[in-house]
Amino acid sequence: MIDSYDVAVIGAGFAGITAARDLSMAGHSVVLLEARDRVGGRTYLSEAFGRQLDMGGTYTHWTKPHVWCELKRYGIGLVSPLSIAKSYWLVDGVVHSGTPADFAQLTEPLLKQCFADARLHFSQPGNIAAADVSAIEKQTIGNRIDSLNLSTHDRDLLINVMATLVGSESEQGLAQFLFWCATYFGNWTAFSESGGCWPIEGGTRGLLDAMTADSKAELCLSTPVAAIEDHGQEVTVTTRDGQRIRAQHVVVALPLNTLSDVSIKPPLPQPVRTMIEQKHAIKPSKIWVRVKGEIETFLAHAPVGKHPINTARTEYRHDGDTLIVCFCSDASTLDGGDREAVQHALRTFVPDIEVIETAWHDWASDPYAKGGWVHHRPGNLTQVVPQMRKPHGRIHFAGGDFAAIGVGGIEGAIETGAQAAVDITRSLNGISH
Ligand SMILES: Cc1cc2nc3c(=O)[nH]c(=O)nc-3n(C[C@H](O)[C@H](O)[C@H](O)COP(=O)(O)OP(=O)(O)OC[C@H]3O[C@@H](n4cnc5c(N)ncnc54)[C@H](O)[C@@H]3O)c2cc1C
Repeated sequence: MIDSYDVAVIGAGFAGITAARDLSMAGHSVVLLEARDRVGGRTYLSEAFGRQLDMGGTYTHWTKPHVWCELKRYGIGLVSPLSIAKSYWLVDGVVHSGTPADFAQLTEPLLKQCFADARLHFSQPGNIAAADVSAIEKQTIGNRIDSLNLSTHDRDLLINVMATLVGSESEQGLAQFLFWCATYFGNWTAFSESGGCWPIEGGTRGLLDAMTADSKAELCLSTPVAAIEDHGQEVTVTTRDGQRIRAQHVVVALPLNTLSDVSIKPPLPQPVRTMIEQKHAIKPSKIWVRVKGEIETFLAHAPVGKHPINTARTEYRHDGDTLIVCFCSDASTLDGGDREAVQHALRTFVPDIEVIETAWHDWASDPYAKGGWVHHRPGNLTQVVPQMRKPHGRIHFAGGDFAAIGVGGIEGAIETGAQAAVDITRSLNGISH
């Protein structure tokens, strides 16, 4: 590694990889500094059961413009999901079952009631400055659900559908949820299908590798950054082992929950520092489970706090067996490596299910993620996050956690990485905005 570059990009998830590729292809010298010994961050294609499985971010959709454009560019498709025969849901402590249509019939009216005003507040999701959020910005999803005065039965039903994406409804901001719905014309079901059904062919690593192959940036793995200082004419980046790198501009493409581990000077605005200190509250684990035989396909839901697994779904057939993907909103409630505990939890839904082996990742205790996808606390999405999208001197933030549209996903990571590259290229080429 030399000690001076046009741009230093910190973090090699989808945001950092996009920024490093676009900047280096525009002719700038770029170094990409990554703490782990791999790229991909909260997407992580790993080996399990003799095949490759995504342990983090996985699903995307043709309605997500940035990802779709990258997939087309590299000739990568999506995998069609297994069709689901049966739904299970836990309500009032009792497991119910029916067809997916039965479940939708029960939950759709509740979802409409809960999120009917999404487009009232976010009439133009592409222009967050036009949002009218004064009435909802400080509310949690829990406040909204309380205001509906639902029976315990209906409340449980509603929380069943939202459990995995939202985690604890008492901490998550209502604004992000309404915003997500608004980006899909106010339709929660469409939003959730777009973000949770269609895996990338060959896994997320295939797309990352294709993007990395086009990049001319120098990639430094196992290089955690400790400090960033903007001196006005240039920025200094200091790694944890004391190396110093100088750059004209820096892209910080780190998860919100790890930003407090990096010293940034001059200090960020106070509201941004408060958001960084508070962190977001999504603390999931993802567990892959190999179960015996080609069992009936199913999708199971359970409310947070009432079951350790909040979503379980049959995902693939594998050598005569079935692979189930499970999301636990609170990673501490189930040890993904404890085969018997996982079997016990799954048997709540499917009594005779036989677990052969498991593979998992706990994102809550991962030191370079400290959480899952972002769900912003009340007040942050429309007031604080937009401040992070403006350059802080020569320091530019990128990442799925700070995206204008694809917030919380791979889409937002690519969106913000590409935007940082455009902004810096204009600045390096002397073009004013
Ligand atoms: C279990 C799970 C399921 C998900 N499912 C989906 C899904 O299906 N679809 C979807 O679109 N999104 C999903 N997401 C969200 C998606 O994975 C993220 O929004 C997206 O990957 C974020 O990309 P990023 O580049 O912004 O951040 P990251 O991928 O987190 O990249 C940040 C990088 O910074 C590195 N880093 C951290 N600290 C330092 C440091 N001090 N110095 C240097 N490097 C550092 C990290 O190691 C990491 O590589 C999921 C996330 C999780 C955890």
